[in-house]
Amino acid sequence: MLLPMYVLTGDAADVVMADTDWHARRDYIVLKPANRNEVRIALAIAAEMRVPVHPVSTGRNWGYGSGHPPERGTQVILHLARLDRIVDFDSQKGLVTLEPGVTQGMLAKFLECNGARFMTPTTGAGPSCSLIGNALERGYGLTPCADHFAAVMGIEAVLPDGQIYRSPLATWGDDVAPLGHYKWGCGPYLDGLFSQGAFGVVTRMTLALARRPARVESFYFWIGQDDGLEAAVDRIQDLLASAGGPIGGINLVSAERLNLMVKQGSKLPRAAWIGTGALYGDRSQVLATRKSITSRLGPVSKKIMFLNRARLRLAERLEHFASSFGLAPSLRQLVRSTAEILGVLEGKPSEFALPLAYAARMEVPAHDLDPARDGCGLLWYAPVVPLDGPAARRYYRLAVRICSRYGFKPAVTFSSLSPIAFDSTLPLIFEPTQEGSSRAHTCMKELIQQGKEEGFFPYRYGAASMAEAVSSPDVFWRLATDLKRTVDPNGIISPGRYHRS
Ligand SMILES: Cc1cc2nc3c(=O)[nH]c(=O)nc-3n(C[C@H](O)[C@H](O)[C@H](O)COP(=O)(O)OP(=O)(O)OC[C@H]3O[C@@H](n4cnc5c(N)ncnc54)[C@H](O)[C@@H]3O)c2cc1C
Repeated sequence: MLLPMYVLTGDAADVVMADTDWHARRDYIVLKPANRNEVRIALAIAAEMRVPVHPVSTGRNWGYGSGHPPERGTQVILHLARLDRIVDFDSQKGLVTLEPGVTQGMLAKFLECNGARFMTPTTGAGPSCSLIGNALERGYGLTPCADHFAAVMGIEAVLPDGQIYRSPLATWGDDVAPLGHYKWGCGPYLDGLFSQGAFGVVTRMTLALARRPARVESFYFWIGQDDGLEAAVDRIQDLLASAGGPIGGINLVSAERLNLMVKQGSKLPRAAWIGTGALYGDRSQVLATRKSITSRLGPVSKKIMFLNRARLRLAERLEHFASSFGLAPSLRQLVRSTAEILGVLEGKPSEFALPLAYAARMEVPAHDLDPARDGCGLLWYAPVVPLDGPAARRYYRLAVRICSRYGFKPAVTFSSLSPIAFDSTLPLIFEPTQEGSSRAHTCMKELIQQGKEEGFFPYRYGAASMAEAVSSPDVFWRLATDLKRTVDPNGIISPGRYHRS
């Protein structure tokens, strides 16, 4: 049975339900089961009492509603952070089977302690976030397995009627691991229903980890003027299509976004856009890819820089030398943050990206950052943008036009998902008061609506915008809703999440 100490209400529930948004509701009931059996019991009670529950893994979906459900009527949260076992690890193939409470930080520690040659799939959200929660939201990261749901090889979930679902190639039994070696299994691909769907409570997942390559490098390029955007994007497209695997992904960051990310007073080379990317492979692959990068991006960039561990050690020695004469404090800051970013690309989780959420606040804690706990206001707009120059320009114009109307910076980043698509993340940062929140939501609504009219559709929605996602008369959303009603006729699991309620 669930023990009373793992049912949180009042202030204790408020702490768990902190969000990067303003909320009137303060009466959540948070259940914290310890294992799959307790999840089943909680769902059975919910079904009997016809009370909907919203499952979260660590509930740190910052900027998308954190642990909040999409519908106001859902009051009970099924918080799975206590299911935190790494159930199985195949050290030869890099297949790891884990529970929802396992975070990036926990997996990184486990891999390090076991001397494993595999990388933790890191994201900008940092060490305290769940691997399963992020994969189920189809989150993106910074290592070669950047598409986190693509790395899912098998799923175990408790269905609304209490049955245990397992991927079709998993052998049957209570302690199955791994849950599959082959993503697509056989028959209709049902694992997909659990990602951005509310068809069950996922209690285990098997992920394929990327092997740590001999070399990891980062590269940076500077686009001096804003009118260089189209040419740079077209060059990035050509580079990704021709170089393939060794390039992990490219981010193109606007000056407005960079200003929110770096500390006041930091001295960085001025540019309208700054590009960053990661290179993976052995020495010869990396050297060959460096050449492709230089030849393709050189003509459109003010400057290109490659950074690896050896160069960083040299920079650290220089910084040490300069600081012994009291010189270049900003160099120290630069060397440290570049080292941290390189670490993230190598699969070492870090909080390096989280200070962005604190841009409207005076102080950023030195460690253990948690934007929801610390009262930061943030909503993410995250549409997919075709990876070509004219589309990037049209999208950026839309962002500038709408953000400036509501007093937000068009702090756009373009992140390559493939050689044909970017995901753009645009943070709306505000004071999490009723006024700030309502301004951000109005701006978000306009971005979503006008973005759709121009062909830019979010790949992921925040809890408060979920109704926007499913409001179109498309057959797609009708079918998603029909399927959900078949599996969960009483609407027990997260009603309104990526289906019409
Ligand atoms: C500065 C900053 C940078 C960020 N960078 C990134 C980034 O690089 N990439 C990225 O993807 N995100 C990023 N985020 C967004 C977000 O914080 C992460 O995606 C985070 O990993 C999601 O929270 P979580 O892992 O705790 O998932 P949760 O909040 O636990 O889960 C997310 C949702 O998935 C569903 N779900 C979760 N677990 C289960 C389960 N076991 N069964 C059924 N349904 C479930 C629920 O609907 C839940 O609301 C960033 C946020 C900030 C503030």
